[in-house]
Parts: sequence; C-alpha cells; structure tokens
Amino acid sequence: MGVRRRTGVFYLRVNPILCDGFGHCHELAPELVTMDEWGYPIIKREPTPLSDLAALESARYAVRGCPRQALRIERVSEN
Ligand code: SF4
Repeated sequence: MGVRRRTGVFYLRVNPILCDGFGHCHELAPELVTMDEWGYPIIKREPTPLSDLAALESARYAVRGCPRQALRIERVSEN
C-alpha cells in the first residue's frame, strides 16, 4: 500500500436557490465564506489546495452544517 497524496484543489460551491441566508456556513468555515450585507454567503472564489487539510475540514463542516443542503465541495484533480 502506498501513501495517497492529496493533489489538486477544491472549491466550496453554494446553490443560491436553496440557500436561506442564515449564515451557518460563515461560522463553520470563516476562511472560505464571508457574508454579504443581507447575510448571504460569499464563497471564496480562488481554489484551495486539497493539501490544506484545515480548510478542507472546515468545508466539510459547512457542508454538513448547512440546514438547506445548499453547499457542496467540488474537487478538481491535477493532471
Ligand atoms: S449554511 Fe447553507 S443555507 Fe445557511 S447561509 Fe450557508 S449556504 Fe446558505
């Protein structure tokens, strides 16, 4: 068995139709999500390396904690 390297990047994505704007995602992943003046999330647009395990864990917390299931993690592999 070899060591599996985490290459590539991820994005946190929000479905604006499902989002109700209560902002739990900002509390759970403040490094990835800020809020607009109405309380809706503004997701970091830049890719985050999958090797950033703290950010990836925050993204997972936000996905699990979203009451509307409006968030998902999009992984992009490096080729
Ligand atoms: S936790 Fe979900 S529903 Fe709430 S603001 Fe974030 S994306 Fe929207």
